[in-house]
Amino acid sequence: MKKIVLFDIDYTLFDTDLFKDSQLKTYKLYNEVEDVLKDLSQVAEIGIFSQGEDVFQKEKLKQTLIDSHFGEENVHIFALKDYNIGSVIEKYKDRSVFFVDDKLEVLKLAKDLNGDVFTIWIKRGPFAANQENITGFEPDAIIGNLSEVTPIINS
Ligand SMILES: [Mg+2]
Repeated sequence: MKKIVLFDIDYTLFDTDLFKDSQLKTYKLYNEVEDVLKDLSQVAEIGIFSQGEDVFQKEKLKQTLIDSHFGEENVHIFALKDYNIGSVIEKYKDRSVFFVDDKLEVLKLAKDLNGDVFTIWIKRGPFAANQENITGFEPDAIIGNLSEVTPIINS
């Protein structure tokens, strides 16, 4: 089965703390992101599943020069993720779907909707620090750095 890896933006690919501290002026990815996206695109399709304002979020991809990695058809940005996870999973029903997110609640919702999706929790940023005991949910993998995604997708 073909694979699709859907990344969240804030606190997953994008250093949102730095962005906020700089009054929304400094656009920076976490250090490993470019290499990971390059490696992953050899073995899987990659996409975005992000919450926020469409133009605002896409600007983060553009300013950090990673927008070209993602086909327009695989970029999913919603005001609220919760109500749209189902439609995204449905779109990729013929693939193995991997979600990478710092918000455990999003991963839980995805898993509840479809037990076949693979959930990867990137444990960084303010949400990750406070979520462990909130949801009582065990993601399929917990990682501290996105370089750990590639071996998971390959296995
Ligand atoms: Mg996030």
